[in-house]
Parts: sequence; C-alpha cells; structure tokens
Amino acid sequence: MPKINFCPRCAKPLVTTYDGGRDRLACPDSSCGFIYFGDFSIGCSAVVLREEDKVQKALLIQRGQEPFAGTWQLPGGYVEYDELLAVAVEREVQEEAAIEAKVRDVVGFRHMLGGPSSNIYMIFRLDYVGGEPQYDGEETSDAGFFSLEEMEHMPGVQNISRWGIEQALQTTPGSGLTIDKVGSRAPKWLLFGLKDLDPSIWNPTN
Ligand SMILES: [Zn+2]
Repeated sequence: MPKINFCPRCAKPLVTTYDGGRDRLACPDSSCGFIYFGDFSIGCSAVVLREEDKVQKALLIQRGQEPFAGTWQLPGGYVEYDELLAVAVEREVQEEAAIEAKVRDVVGFRHMLGGPSSNIYMIFRLDYVGGEPQYDGEETSDAGFFSLEEMEHMPGVQNISRWGIEQALQTTPGSGLTIDKVGSRAPKWLLFGLKDLDPSIWNPTN
C-alpha cells in the first residue's frame, strides 16, 4: 500500500475501501469523494537530428545536476499538469539547449514502474528549425549534436536516449504517430495517430 495518510483535498485520515476490484485508500467523507489511484507522471524527450558533413547527428545535453550528473541524454523533462505534451517537449529543447525545433512525430515511449510514480516517457522526433546548442552551466553542463559513432566514445550516454535516437535514425520522419490536426481542434486535446486516419471520423461533413 502506498504511503499516503491524509486526504489531499480535505485532510481527513484516509481509510481503505474496495473500489474497482482492489483495495484503495479513500476519503471517508462521501461529500469529498477522493480516492487515491496512485501517482503517475509523464516525461517527454526530443530527438532533434541535424545533418553535419553528411552525417545525421542528434542533440544531446549533459546533465549538470544530480541525479546522474555528467551523463548525456536527450533534452526533455516532465510535463506540467496544465501543459500539452508537444508544447512541453518544444519548451524543454529551447530551455535546455537553446534550440528551436518543431514536433514531427512520436518514435516510441517507455512505461516504467518502480520509481516514485508510474511513469510514461514519450520520445518525440522534432524537426530542427534553428539555433546553436547552448548550456547554462548549472542544469546543463554541455550540449551539442553528436553522431552515433561519436557517442561510442562519450561516457554515460543514457541507454533510453540512445534507443530513441536509433528509432529516429532507422525510420522515415512522419512515419510514427503524428499530430492529427483535425482531431486536435478541441482546445485541450492533442491527438496523435497514424497518418492514414480517416479524417471524416472527425469531419463528417467532408
Ligand atoms: Zn477528503
């Protein structure tokens, strides 16, 4: 059972209740109605490729802070609760490396248990738009575009980052899950799908 003792809405001590086929912690006050389903988080990262001397290179940042200070990874971070994913990943690339890039498609994701929360980590492919890699010397201690060959000689390139880069290098841009412009017209929706989705589902008058 997870370690949570009091209702985060009304501060009453939580009790165990049977809901949805298993025991869960819940608020005893029925007018409150809080049920604890667990902690979940969403992370995002960006594969930004740029060709240099006819070699495809991926943007990496070096972590300046613990945990894992000194290791290299794709730029990325946690999505804010009131922020859409594609906005978050473009923001992180700008903040961490001063690179402007636009989301093209999703090349993969990881679902991981065992951390502080059940975590989904989405890996996006972004089109490079402009800028040269910069780092702030605190959160990031270095940043740059590197080929897979160069990464062989760099200590501490995170496995999940390398996996995402290989996914992107081995597939055609746009072949992954892409933003559906028609289906995403609801202001709080971001809909990703395969490209041959029938647009009449969302636009029956067409
Ligand atoms: Zn409550």
